[in-house]
Amino acid sequence: MAPDARVGKLWIGTNWKMHKTLAEGQAYCSELMRVAENLHPDIELFVIPPHTHLHALKTLMARSRVRLGAQNMHWEDEGPYTGEISPRMLAEIGLDLIELGHSERRQYYNENDADINRKVHAALSHNLRPLVCVGETAEQRKFGITEEVLAIQLKIGLSGLSREQAEQVLIAYEPVWAIGAGGVAAEPGYVEDVHGCIRRLLAALFGESGHRIPILYGGSVSESNFETYLDRRNVNGLFIGRAAWDIGRFSRMLLAVHRRMSA
Ligand code: PEP
Repeated sequence: MAPDARVGKLWIGTNWKMHKTLAEGQAYCSELMRVAENLHPDIELFVIPPHTHLHALKTLMARSRVRLGAQNMHWEDEGPYTGEISPRMLAEIGLDLIELGHSERRQYYNENDADINRKVHAALSHNLRPLVCVGETAEQRKFGITEEVLAIQLKIGLSGLSREQAEQVLIAYEPVWAIGAGGVAAEPGYVEDVHGCIRRLLAALFGESGHRIPILYGGSVSESNFETYLDRRNVNGLFIGRAAWDIGRFSRMLLAVHRRMSA
């Protein structure tokens, strides 16, 4: 199994959401670095912990291939925004990625596509790669408007980017009905269809550059189903929540991917 030639790598990572103390995170990342040492070079591995852990984990993983990201940020460099973290602050830590537009941010904190677009531009101006989450709700799927919803999220979220900037973006397709404790994993065939639709949209927006943007699938990915997504067209990686929070389970999945890529 080889990654899509135009995308080049297979991206696999996890967002811890609001889980793990710093000590738990350090133990997790120490083990992850050890596992990462022997993984196939075409696997791009990343972890997205809570903000309070980022500085210490960056120090711990300074020489590791594991990429580090944050779960959210404001678009301004500084200002009267109590409780917020700025791109300048995150860039100073030396992060690689910034996750933007997770459905929990959209649902509980009223983030909209225009906000996400401001954040995408702010991230790029600080050399942070935006990992933009998109996905339809169960109701939108029921009404058959998944494609329209994704088009709105992508057209607004990525508005104003040059082709060169677009190549720095990663997309995570995370159907809202598939993620979290009450979620149901999407069928691999459905994921392939939707990723195909996202790819066409990206190509329409950014030409050949749209083919170089990794599209990751996320939503109830587990140790028993993760391999079913990997051979599907335009699935350029996996964004895993709960199933990756246990380092033993995540390591087993990574080693299985490594074996498939090395075969
Ligand atoms: C998520 O919430 O982004 C996610 C992928 O969660 P899970 O894998 O736990 O469904």
